[in-house]
Amino acid sequence: MSPPIYQKMAVIGCGLIGSSMIRAARAAGAVGEVAVFDASEAARARIVALGYADRVADSAADACRGADLVVFAVPPMAMGEAARAAAPGIAAGVTVTDVGSVKAAIAAALIAALPDALVIPGHPIAGTEQSGPDAGFAELFQNRWTILTPQAQVQAPYQAADDTPYQVAVERLTDFWTALGANVELMDAAHHDLVLAVTSHLPHLIAYTIVGAAADLEGVTRGEVMKYSAGGFRDFTRIAASDPTMWRDVFLTNKDAVLEVLGRFTEDLQAMSRAIRWGEGDKLFDQFSRTREIRRGIIAAGQESAAPNFGRDVRTTETPDTKSQ
Ligand code: NAP
Repeated sequence: MSPPIYQKMAVIGCGLIGSSMIRAARAAGAVGEVAVFDASEAARARIVALGYADRVADSAADACRGADLVVFAVPPMAMGEAARAAAPGIAAGVTVTDVGSVKAAIAAALIAALPDALVIPGHPIAGTEQSGPDAGFAELFQNRWTILTPQAQVQAPYQAADDTPYQVAVERLTDFWTALGANVELMDAAHHDLVLAVTSHLPHLIAYTIVGAAADLEGVTRGEVMKYSAGGFRDFTRIAASDPTMWRDVFLTNKDAVLEVLGRFTEDLQAMSRAIRWGEGDKLFDQFSRTREIRRGIIAAGQESAAPNFGRDVRTTETPDTKSQ
């Protein structure tokens, strides 16, 4: 077996993503030792019980001492505070990354807190609606994309004259994610935030809104919403069950891109509403055909299952309206 890519990985925040990274890295033999710090006492106790870490530290700085890779896997708005707390334990030139769902704001927070580290922000496009250390699993990143957003202008100690250590660190982190099963893409942070606003942030906002609106609708009881929950609505409820802290932070840290995409979406929704009002069936049909092709493209790219009903067992999940979905 080849030697580990990093001798010691420190993971700050060990919920769904942090614990999945540990499991995947261990399965791949990509790390030697693992140290963890989590702000939650309950999570720390579970991490000990689950045996994820060689050491569960009492502070972020303590977990980071001697690490050659530091991963911040806390909610987006906690990144700056976590990095400041970890700073005394992170030596100059250590590779620091994160897994946050927003990149520009988090990159700025990490660089400000850790000016002497090699900060390479990252985002695995993989997850579930579960949280906490028990939710982690080693296969989470298999055949999923991880986007790294290396700095275009590397921070002070590694600037222009010789940014080779930074480029080497980017290559090493790419190898690490590849070992965890991911496909790695390098991207500009602002572009990442716009792309994810379209593919992830807006869909979550819509799901949160639809599920909230359906539950509030006059003339439809909460019991009826549960009982007749057909495929379309039920799939929204899964997304709307995502972690409230993380998603509050995503919208507040990616405000500009989300508002831009939301503006465009609102206009398109008005166009759909007009087409329905004026009986413009061709317009609706064309739009629905176009979106069906997009779904087929996602399946062809291996990012979704082609199994009917997302591979659910129809015998146990069918509801009165499922056939018409
Ligand atoms: P999670 O399961 O809720 O775990 C986060 C853990 O970090 C919690 O135990 C939390 O403790 C702890 N924490 C909070 N502030 C901290 C601090 N300052 N120092 C140390 N620990 C701290 O969250 P997750 O789903 O793994 O998400 C982590 C990151 O991954 C987020 O930035 C998110 O944007 C990103 N991400 C998530 C997904 C997804 O599907 N969930 C996918 C891709 C990327 P408390 O509970 O006490 O706050």
